[in-house]
Amino acid sequence: MIKNEKLIIGIDFDGTCVTHEFPRIGKDIGAVTVLKKLLEKGHQLILFTMRSNKEDVMSTEKEIHSNRGQYLTEAVNWFKENGIELYGIQTNPTQHSWTSSPKCYAQLYIDDRSLGCPLAFNSYLSPRPFVDWAKVETLLKERNIL
Ligand SMILES: [Mg+2]
Repeated sequence: MIKNEKLIIGIDFDGTCVTHEFPRIGKDIGAVTVLKKLLEKGHQLILFTMRSNKEDVMSTEKEIHSNRGQYLTEAVNWFKENGIELYGIQTNPTQHSWTSSPKCYAQLYIDDRSLGCPLAFNSYLSPRPFVDWAKVETLLKERNIL
């Protein structure tokens, strides 16, 4: 990474920003300070999550219908409440001008389900692994992103 290059970074939510407790908002796992440091460096964040609001739910599966809610809005509110500005939600706001691809364009993605993402295990916090933000911060520094 070229030093001081500004990146667009796609960020997953459940298991990444907080412990995975969908449909609830999970516990703090140290994402806020690192995300704020990324913003201070001039990078832009796009929330890129499987969460959607009830009007977006296409599935006919009973379980999903019985759990309808404003899940995406609740994640967006988590960013607002933590003072983390989002450049985009689910999509890059400018990509429609140069691509019809449905993939959210970012130069880096941080997602607990991505290969190579450092994970932490703490059964007191969550039965599922979640992003290890101390290790992510180290990686970001090694790559001159932070
Ligand atoms: Mg996730």
